[in-house]
Amino acid sequence: MHEMSIAMSVIEAVVDKAREEGGGKITGIDLVVGRLAGVEVESLKFCFGAAARDTLAEGAELVIEEPEGRGRCEACGAEFPVTSFYAKCSSCGQFRVKIESGQELAVRSFTIE
Ligand SMILES: [Zn+2]
Repeated sequence: MHEMSIAMSVIEAVVDKAREEGGGKITGIDLVVGRLAGVEVESLKFCFGAAARDTLAEGAELVIEEPEGRGRCEACGAEFPVTSFYAKCSSCGQFRVKIESGQELAVRSFTIE
């Protein structure tokens, strides 16, 4: 499962960092998952709980920020929110939209006890 491998790599990265910082228990993790990142947030939360078991991140509170997608039209330069990769320009109607943001998938911060 896609979300499971994401959850595991996030936990691995955070646990490594926590060990460097002295091995305290991780109490919270803030993630940024763009709406165009192709990740099911509910599924990720579920996988996260399972993947964190028996690690320093067990029981950590997961906070997920979901920034909207934004695109820019290559024809007229307009910028606007997009909900898919096949977006249509809201001002000129062309399908030459470059995705500028919304594909983020990153750990913003985490808290160690
Ligand atoms: Zn346009």
